[in-house]
Amino acid sequence: MAELVIEDVGGGTRIVRGPTNLGILEARDGTAVLVDSGNDEDAGRKLLRRLEADGLRLSLIVNTHSNADHCGGNAFLQARTGCRIAATREEAAFVENPLLEPSLLWGGYPPASLRNKFLMAKPSRVTDVLAPSGPIPGMELEAVPLPGHFVGMIGVRTPGGVLFCADALASAEILAKYPVFFLYDVAAHYRTLDFLASCPAELFVPSHAAPVREIGPLVEVNRRAVDRVNEVVLDLARPEPSWEDLLAGLVTRLGIELNHSQYALVHASIRAHLAYLADTGALATRFESGKLRVGCRP
Ligand SMILES: [Zn+2]
Repeated sequence: MAELVIEDVGGGTRIVRGPTNLGILEARDGTAVLVDSGNDEDAGRKLLRRLEADGLRLSLIVNTHSNADHCGGNAFLQARTGCRIAATREEAAFVENPLLEPSLLWGGYPPASLRNKFLMAKPSRVTDVLAPSGPIPGMELEAVPLPGHFVGMIGVRTPGGVLFCADALASAEILAKYPVFFLYDVAAHYRTLDFLASCPAELFVPSHAAPVREIGPLVEVNRRAVDRVNEVVLDLARPEPSWEDLLAGLVTRLGIELNHSQYALVHASIRAHLAYLADTGALATRFESGKLRVGCRP
């Protein structure tokens, strides 16, 4: 990780720009609150150095969710500062037990190729379990529910109207490179997109896109990306392929390059699309000769 690029947006809010955007917020008592902690120990070390240079003591990390690029600095920062860590109940389970993430993706105990630092942060202790919506206790901050990408993901709204919106939205460039952006729950993600489209904020800070004042166009780019995956799944399901053949067809059609991590992410995400399309009545599944077959409903 290169040196930190920090943008002061006023009201005691700073945005740390990088592959995963983070927030440094000044609390009423003069301590610092982080929104997410970066990829790994290295990111945590750089954040701490910066806080110390600014004379700020870290009191709390609010994790939007438990993916390693958002809580990877937790363990180092908590060991060094004794800071509190806040997350929703679902995300706390993953922050404290990182093996759950590759297990969720793989659907069982994961092989060593998936027990890597991109899918597993070092474990840290969650001291404050947050409700997915409402004030964050003791802070002038508000948790905003943004489920879909991960099980109990939240955004964080500051008193100055900055909304850190985690991985609910990705940039057009990322969606072009990764046409299947990871989703745990497709229906919840669509609701989150609707919510964000009508959500008042002065500035939206997605973790993997540039901060914007108008969120509408980015919401539509993201909605279109999810629609497209659903359309490809439905198109491929017409001759009622096996699940494996459907997945292979989708990977080929969208030009996705597979490695172990990509396979696990795409596999789990397309399973979520399958569940969504089955629940909405567009697809049906049945078993034949030991294969799960996926077909369009007439
Ligand atoms: Zn992320």
